[in-house]
Amino acid sequence: MAVKCSRCSGNAVIYLPYGNENLCRKHFVESYERRVMRAVREFRMIKKGDRIGAAVSGGKDSLSMLHILKKICDSMRVELVALSVDEGIKGYREKTLKVARENCKKLEVEHRVLSFKKEIGVTVDEISKKKERMRTCSYCGVFRRWILNKAAREMELNKLAVGHNLDDTAQSILMNFLRNEPFRLARLGPAGGIIEDEFFVDRIKPLMMIPERESAVYSIIKGMNVEFGRCPYAHEAFRSRVRVFLNELEEEFPGTKFRVVNSFMSLKNSIEKQFRTNEKPVKCRECGELSSQEICMRCKMLKELTV
Ligand code: SF4
Repeated sequence: MAVKCSRCSGNAVIYLPYGNENLCRKHFVESYERRVMRAVREFRMIKKGDRIGAAVSGGKDSLSMLHILKKICDSMRVELVALSVDEGIKGYREKTLKVARENCKKLEVEHRVLSFKKEIGVTVDEISKKKERMRTCSYCGVFRRWILNKAAREMELNKLAVGHNLDDTAQSILMNFLRNEPFRLARLGPAGGIIEDEFFVDRIKPLMMIPERESAVYSIIKGMNVEFGRCPYAHEAFRSRVRVFLNELEEEFPGTKFRVVNSFMSLKNSIEKQFRTNEKPVKCRECGELSSQEICMRCKMLKELTV
């Protein structure tokens, strides 16, 4: 017999173990959207006059985020632009970019594609041939952040929304603790951060309190065309171990990921205070972008690739 929704007589489509609730399509969509909107409001992610860039990869998280941001931005008359990055990953990125393009067209959101080859001069496929496969993600992450920040600033966007979900956030928190990297920990959080400079575009994370599998369900219910494939380089060993560990704990003790993130949030202000500095970040000597050192990470890594 079909399991019934805990809030009505409809058939349930999802079980939320942390709330011990079964929800039908209608009540799940309402609950999902309400929680995203609550996070946006609570952490003051969007205000009138903002110009928001949404980083859209074509996966379930970024597309679900884009659909809700479109509603929020329209109701607040805030400008929204979608930005996708083409890292040059053959057999994978073409599909996700196509999906991103189609969704933006349907939602009538302006869409820009930024390319590694054009902005950095090298693709991820080329990097993977020069460096060990395991390190590809480190290069990709640094280059992508650099490209997005530069493009957002040049387009006069003042905030960049990224689709990091609860699972990503809980993993990052734990990884930074386990690696003893409190400075990186201080940079996590739903909005803003420890870098205050008009050259740096603030990040916002509307899905930070949404479990990963719920965005998959939301995107299917809403009939979005989503690419569920995984990047062929997604092998970061340490993150994978932490992911499995957290998933096992979540299975046995529902709500674990929420508790990790909520514990971090209660410490966040003091961690931020400790690492907030009055020293202004400098401009990189090579590329002119913001950096904590004379030469930024992007330029150092680019040099590494040419030796
Ligand atoms: Fe880049 Fe790694 Fe993400 Fe693939 S998995 S897009 S290589 S960061």
